[in-house]
Amino acid sequence: MLESYSRAWCEIDLDAIAHNVEEIQKLVGHTKIMGIVKANAYGHGALACAQALTRCGIEIFGVSSIDEAIELREGGIEADILILGYTPPRHFDKLAEYGLIQSLVSCAYAKKLEQYGEANDVVFRAHAKIDTGMNRTGIVYQPDHKHFDELKDVYRLDHVRVEGIFSHFPVSDDLGEDALSFTKRQIALFDEAVERLRAEGIDPGARHIQNSYGILNYHDLGYDYCRPGLLYMGVTSDDAIEINSAPDFIPILSVWANVSVVKWLKPGETVSYGRHFKAEKPTKIATISIGYADGLPRLVSNQGVQVLVHGVPCPLVGNVCMDQCMVDVTAVENVQEGDVVCLVGEQNGHKMTIDRLSRLAHTINNETLSQIAARMPRLKKREQ
Ligand SMILES: *Cc1c(COP(=O)(O)O)cnc(C)c1O
Repeated sequence: MLESYSRAWCEIDLDAIAHNVEEIQKLVGHTKIMGIVKANAYGHGALACAQALTRCGIEIFGVSSIDEAIELREGGIEADILILGYTPPRHFDKLAEYGLIQSLVSCAYAKKLEQYGEANDVVFRAHAKIDTGMNRTGIVYQPDHKHFDELKDVYRLDHVRVEGIFSHFPVSDDLGEDALSFTKRQIALFDEAVERLRAEGIDPGARHIQNSYGILNYHDLGYDYCRPGLLYMGVTSDDAIEINSAPDFIPILSVWANVSVVKWLKPGETVSYGRHFKAEKPTKIATISIGYADGLPRLVSNQGVQVLVHGVPCPLVGNVCMDQCMVDVTAVENVQEGDVVCLVGEQNGHKMTIDRLSRLAHTINNETLSQIAARMPRLKKREQ
């Protein structure tokens, strides 16, 4: 454990990223990895993750926005960067200036880029997004609406160079019959679009479709890239979701905070806002210096979720506050101000997952991770 000057902090195990990348690579064979580092790499720190992934040989990154892409460039990442989402036309100049690859979210959007490129004498790099059923972004290519002419048109623009084609899975995490047939139909539509482009003499460019669950459940698609976020971070969305493979991932994140105060309560005394915890017997309470403004979801309050104090699982009691929360440490001797509490990670051989927080907060690990606050220092652990 690395100690911080702060009273709450995360530790990011950069060596574990290399292990997780190897595990992904075992699943996908020759398919290369595009490292998805959007949303500050789901709270883990985009630049540090991109640097670690670069050391693993990864040559292309995916982000959600142009500011995230520029942050990587300014941090020294020279690899290709694909913006998966929308860039407003007022920032088109930056796409060219920073050498970024833009997703074509629709045919109309591609034509706007073309106009700008023509007026300003620049050629943009792009990947064509096709919508095979997510109904979020992309040129629609679904059973009843195959906008193939639009797709073909974007490949023929003079100031937009389409270097790749991709789509996205909404239910690759679901092994139910309906979801399986939906996802397989998406794959078939994607392959069909690619084949039709080739039949027109158009090189579709690099093909990619698999997110993390796409990799776990449809690992052998053999496209040029896959797009994991969660998996190199060593987690899935929800530990209870069944998957089709058994990889051995190591979570890269741990979360720590200090004890600030220890006190004994008499029976009948209560803890925190709303007074939802009432001591039934003499109870030793430790206040710890982390709260919902650090990313500990307030929804986990009063559900008995445990954290590690001296390696002993102890329940949170009472409502989680903005900057602090309280733990029942009656079972642990010698708890003192300044002691380090583990909320996520491992202490004295005991493990605490992010998943248990997500379950009690009725969400997925993707959200819990990406809600880790900016004020939390991310300390990097790296030996290799
Ligand atoms: C976020 C995102 C991913 C990565 O998803 P994970 O489930 O974290 O692997 C892949 N592709 C697109 C288009 C995304 O938006």
